[in-house]
Amino acid sequence: MQTPEILYMVIPCYNEQEVLRETAKQLKAKYESLIGSSMISPLSRIVFVNDGSKDNTWNIIQELHTENPEFFSGINLAHNCGHQNAVLAGLMTVKDICDISITMDADLQDDINAVDEMVEKYYEGNHVVYGVRSERKTDTFFKKFTAETFYKFMKLMGADVVYNHADFRLMSKRVLQELSGFKEVNLFLRGMVPLIGFRSCSVYYERRERFAGESKYPLRKMLAFAVNGITSFSTKPLKFITALGFMTSVLSIGAFIWAFIAKFAGFAELGWSSTICSIWLIGGLQLFCLGIIGEYVGKIYAEVKQRPRFIVEDFLNELDAEFINNKDIN
Ligand code: UDP
Ligand code: MG
Repeated sequence: MQTPEILYMVIPCYNEQEVLRETAKQLKAKYESLIGSSMISPLSRIVFVNDGSKDNTWNIIQELHTENPEFFSGINLAHNCGHQNAVLAGLMTVKDICDISITMDADLQDDINAVDEMVEKYYEGNHVVYGVRSERKTDTFFKKFTAETFYKFMKLMGADVVYNHADFRLMSKRVLQELSGFKEVNLFLRGMVPLIGFRSCSVYYERRERFAGESKYPLRKMLAFAVNGITSFSTKPLKFITALGFMTSVLSIGAFIWAFIAKFAGFAELGWSSTICSIWLIGGLQLFCLGIIGEYVGKIYAEVKQRPRFIVEDFLNELDAEFINNKDIN
C-alpha cells in the first residue's frame, strides 16, 4: 500500500455531553488501530465541532484536546448554526490539512467499524464513500416510516439523494476543494455531494440507537429539512403548480359550458353547496401554490443576503493557522 494518508473526522456536536466521552473513547481506539496497521497517517485527527451547545459539550472537547492533543481537535462555533452548517464548518476548516475526511454524528448511531471499509474503498480509488444503513431495526415504526417516505418523496420531487444515507460519509481532499465552490446558504449536503460527482461507492452498516441523550431532530425539524432539501434542489414543485393551474383552467371551461347548458335547459337552480365547495377548493389550491412559491422566494432572499454560514469563535490546535489562511472559505 502507498504511504498512509491523513484522515480527519468531523463530528458535529450539539448538547452531547452525555455521549461525547464515550464517542471519543471509541474513536481513539479506532484511530490507534488504523494508525497501527498503517492505514492512516499518525497526523490524522478527530475534530469535534461544537454547534453552540448550551451544556458542557465545549468544556469536554477542550479537556479531550488537553488530554490527547495528538488525537483530538475542536472548533467552537459562535452560535447554533444547525447540523449541516456545523458539518460544513468542520470540513472547510480541515480541507487543506487532510487527505481524507469522514463526517459522523456524535451519538454513536453510525457504526465506527465501517470506517475501516470506507478508508479501504478510498484507497481503491473512490473519492466519495457513502455510509448507507442496511437495516432500521432499532428505529420505532413511526421513525422508520417517516424516514422511508422522506427518501421516496425526495426522489419523486427531483432531489437525487442516496437512499438510506444520512451524513456518515467519506470525502477526499479533491471533493472538499470542489465543495468549497458551492456557496449556497441553504445547505443540504446529501444533495450536494452527488452533484459534485467523482467515483463513489457505498458501505453498508447497521444504524444503532442513540448511545445517550435525545434526538435533536424532532418531527418538526425533519419536515423542515425535507422541504429544504426539495426546494434547494428541484423546481419540480413549481412545474406541478403550472400543470395543476392548466388542468384547473381546462376543467373550468367544461364547467362553464355545463353552466350554460343548464341555464338554457331550464334547470339552473343548482346547489349552493357545490358552489361553496369549489370556492374553498380553488382558494385552498391557490394558497398552497402561493406557499410553495413563497418557499422559493424565501430561499432566494436567504441566498441574496450571502450571510456567513457559520461563525467560528475558537479553534483548538493547529487548525487555527490553517483557517486564518482560508478566511474566504465561508
Ligand atoms: N447537531 C448539531 N446541531 C444541531 C442539531 C444537531 O450539530 O443544531 C448534531 C448532533 O449533535 C448530532 C448530529 O447533529 O451529532 C445529528 O443529530 P441527532 O442525532 O440529534 O439527529 P437524529 O440522529 O436523531 O436524526
Ligand atoms: Mg442521531
